[in-house]
Amino acid sequence: MEFNLEKTIRPHLVGMKSYSTSRPVENKNQFILLDANENPFGNFNRYPDAENVRLKQKLAEINKVETGNLFLGNGSDELIDLIMRVFCDPGKDSVMVFNPSFVMYEIYAKMNNVQVEKLQLNSEFQLDKKEFENAISKTQAKILFLCSPNNPTGNSVDDLEYFIQSFNGIVVVDEAYIEFSPLESTVSLLNQYPNLIVLKTLSKAYGMAGLRIGVGISSVEIAAFFNRFKPPYNISSESQRLALEQLEKEDEQAENIQTILAEKEKLKKGLAENKEVVKIYPSHANFFLVEFKDAEKVYQKLHEANIYTSLRHPQLKNCLRLSVGKPEENLKVLNVLSEI
Ligand code: PMP
Repeated sequence: MEFNLEKTIRPHLVGMKSYSTSRPVENKNQFILLDANENPFGNFNRYPDAENVRLKQKLAEINKVETGNLFLGNGSDELIDLIMRVFCDPGKDSVMVFNPSFVMYEIYAKMNNVQVEKLQLNSEFQLDKKEFENAISKTQAKILFLCSPNNPTGNSVDDLEYFIQSFNGIVVVDEAYIEFSPLESTVSLLNQYPNLIVLKTLSKAYGMAGLRIGVGISSVEIAAFFNRFKPPYNISSESQRLALEQLEKEDEQAENIQTILAEKEKLKKGLAENKEVVKIYPSHANFFLVEFKDAEKVYQKLHEANIYTSLRHPQLKNCLRLSVGKPEENLKVLNVLSEI
């Protein structure tokens, strides 16, 4: 595989300057700050740290990388959009996505007028390698999006390294659910593959969806581009502060993950005993894709009991995606199902 970053980035961005601030991050009170047209009064009057220095230090420690390998987004959703905009010329370039997979890859591609080439997964939601080789021999796609564990199917993609190695452009491995998985993160492959971007999020296992923090991890060269072109103040001061505070509570987070995984097993057992259930797909995430005899009916019954689930029918025939909730919530799901 031959990968050249400068040739992969949209040409007009290579030499382009972006917005930068030079103000101090620490001890702001010691300085007179008249550089950003802020209001001198109020509790939230100052712009956040545009470089996310302290939060990045903590995230680097957690992910065992350097701060220079990181770029942060207002959720990983924002990073997916930014990745499209950094690498793909509208009306010209294309990206490859697995089907089924996380819908936002396609939505952001379309918003950016970028073509989408879909790679159809087999009945076990894996991609046949022959089919992949055939597809990449005919494509100029700039980016391959891989989601593992995959949303909405829940399974991990087999042999991720093979795909990263074989693709000539950027490979984004979206690991939104990796903390629930028994498998290793692909962050350990970063030194070997300069075309790799790993996406993580604080929204799932870390329990901070409301703070909107997505984490991009890549080579220092790629990360530098994103730090240059991301919206300068995309993570609010309060989000940065609260995320740091939460990330210090490592034991609590580990415990929550263990509770979710234990609940997941109980939910699986309960679902397996229900006569409406046809199949529970294998999951390395905090949710299950479940095939029912009649998914629309099940969705409706759960809805009537004030339980929201994600109906994937008809794309995934008779399937619902069900997140693992609190113990009493999962019990309620099983109770409603048993009454159908
Ligand atoms: N990637 C995947 C696979 C997801 O399922 C989600 C959220 N559903 C995201 C990215 C976006 O996460 P966030 O923007 O909250 O970081």
